[in-house]
Amino acid sequence: MKSAASSLEQVREGITHACSIAGRRPNDVTLVAISKTQPIDAIARLLEQGQRVFGENRVQEAEAKWPELCERWDDVDLHLVGQLQSNKADDAVALFDCIHSLDRPSLVTALARAMDKAGRQVPCFVQVNIGEEEQKGGCAIADLPALLDQARQADVPVIGLMGVPPLDIEPAPFFAFLDKLASDNGLAGRSYGMSGDYETAIMLGATHVRVGTALFGARG
Ligand SMILES: *Cc1c(COP(=O)(O)O)cnc(C)c1O
Repeated sequence: MKSAASSLEQVREGITHACSIAGRRPNDVTLVAISKTQPIDAIARLLEQGQRVFGENRVQEAEAKWPELCERWDDVDLHLVGQLQSNKADDAVALFDCIHSLDRPSLVTALARAMDKAGRQVPCFVQVNIGEEEQKGGCAIADLPALLDQARQADVPVIGLMGVPPLDIEPAPFFAFLDKLASDNGLAGRSYGMSGDYETAIMLGATHVRVGTALFGARG
């Protein structure tokens, strides 16, 4: 088993390498370490190595793990990358610094209300169902313009688009499509690329790569 430290170094090197090929600056790509299902001590090892941006996919799990870690490291940047139920919007706005899974009108409404109540603006990515897969989260491609309009009117800050390509298909065309969709909608943020394909994602414009397994090892 590789240690978390050497894994982190390897992923950082991969990011730097992809950036150099793409003519991009490594600082323009944010590594979001996906710590879902990982125990506190595994997360603490990455924090000790200087990693500060983390992603969780469930509000309740994050609430159980992160308050303790945030006491020890007060500059953590915590992202939500999993589906969010509207009745958890208040909790999500209180805990997370960024939400990658805004995907439907009712959630825009719930987040607008929660941000207003908390007096705290949390930047969001709109998740797009790029593979048009029935079982996956994300708004339909055709529904994106209306959702962005609604978010603008409700003062929910949208900074980019997020997507998860279908499994076992070459992801590059999906990344290229999301890149263009973000450009067409005047959005700078692009959240795509995971352990198996983050270098490809960076070459195709990703600003946020969400990497779990390559940092922590396989999830139990
Ligand atoms: C789990 C997860 C990841 C990380 O996947 P790995 O293959 O472990 O890197 C990225 N994004 C989302 C939305 C996830 O749920």
